[in-house]
Amino acid sequence: MSNPTIYYQLSKDKDDPFYIVNVGNILKKHKTWLSLLPRVEPFYAVKCNDDRNVLATLSALGIGFDCASMAEIKAVLKLGVPPSKIVYANPCKQASHLKFAAKREVSMMTFDNEPELHKVKQLHPTAKLILRLLTDDSKSLCRLGQKYGAPLKTVPNLLQVARNLDLNVVGISFHVGSGCYDASAFSSAVEIAKTAFDYGKSMGFQFDILDIGGGFPGSPRATVSFEEISATLNKALNKHFPVESGVRIIAEPGRYYVASAFNLAVNVIAKRQVNDDNTQAQGKQHAYRNQKYMYYVNDGVYGSFNCLLYDHAIVYPKTLGRDNEQQYSSSIWGPTCDGLDCVMKECMLPELDVGDWMYFEDMGAYTAAAASNFNGFQKPLAYYVIEEKVW
Ligand code: PLP
Repeated sequence: MSNPTIYYQLSKDKDDPFYIVNVGNILKKHKTWLSLLPRVEPFYAVKCNDDRNVLATLSALGIGFDCASMAEIKAVLKLGVPPSKIVYANPCKQASHLKFAAKREVSMMTFDNEPELHKVKQLHPTAKLILRLLTDDSKSLCRLGQKYGAPLKTVPNLLQVARNLDLNVVGISFHVGSGCYDASAFSSAVEIAKTAFDYGKSMGFQFDILDIGGGFPGSPRATVSFEEISATLNKALNKHFPVESGVRIIAEPGRYYVASAFNLAVNVIAKRQVNDDNTQAQGKQHAYRNQKYMYYVNDGVYGSFNCLLYDHAIVYPKTLGRDNEQQYSSSIWGPTCDGLDCVMKECMLPELDVGDWMYFEDMGAYTAAAASNFNGFQKPLAYYVIEEKVW
């Protein structure tokens, strides 16, 4: 947030919330990915943040895309991304979306159940199918295993059905869960995937793709670092899928690429001083030790802060250069008329005035992508910056 652009925006007499997107941060993430996971081709998970300029940046870097729906496939194709750089990684696809994928020759896709195989046979019989395995997701903030993934013991039957339908199964995928906080989840999953590969081999399939999903941390505050995960992962990949195996390894990182690139600035649109028991203070009170404030800002849980409900996010409000002032117990509320729209129940802030700004770092993952316009509040606009030396 030290970039002058934020001050420029603030000086323009506007009060709408906005994102500052540090494009250089995305480039740095990719450089780190290439150096730490050189064997793994990233297919960015569009669902995490579908900002058009982010997608264009990633596409310019030659990254592939994980799409969950027709709209996501369309958005990516519109950027000129070849269909071969897309994995349709939704094991339960809407029929019309699947037909669209067939028409646009997007053929790599995941599945984890028998009815899906019949659907694919009917609507996209030449698809390159990747069987999504159920692996341990208990070491992740957002668990996905209760909804997706075929247990290992069901793999032979699914492969047999695919064989009977003359479908082309090309590999195995898994997702350890989003916001994984234990690197060993990846190595255990790779081991299970190897067993599934062996099942395939014994049934005459020639699997040549391993898709290791998402779950990589995107914020410097994450409990486990990307460095730790890549070290553990590389060891497991080299053991179970050595280079000589010829297996192509892809991944579906979402938050890794975008979380730390987005800072969100919100405006204090209203303020209320309250007593210790949260009743409204009467008249103008002088500052005293237990003074408390409620701040109403113009983005909330129905907007970018939906990440508090859906992504188990923890956010930290910051003020512009006022960290050394006296701090007061404060709460932060979103702009909608819903009482549930609370961004932070308790935090310490200097005393702010209506019209002041506060900002939140690491707001790029599962924020704007799932935001609504509830109560007529629009999603924040984004402004893109890059340091001159990175450019
Ligand atoms: N792939 C699939 C199928 C997903 O469902 C998700 C997230 O839910 C991702 C990739 C991205 O996960 P992450 O943002 O944790 O990397």
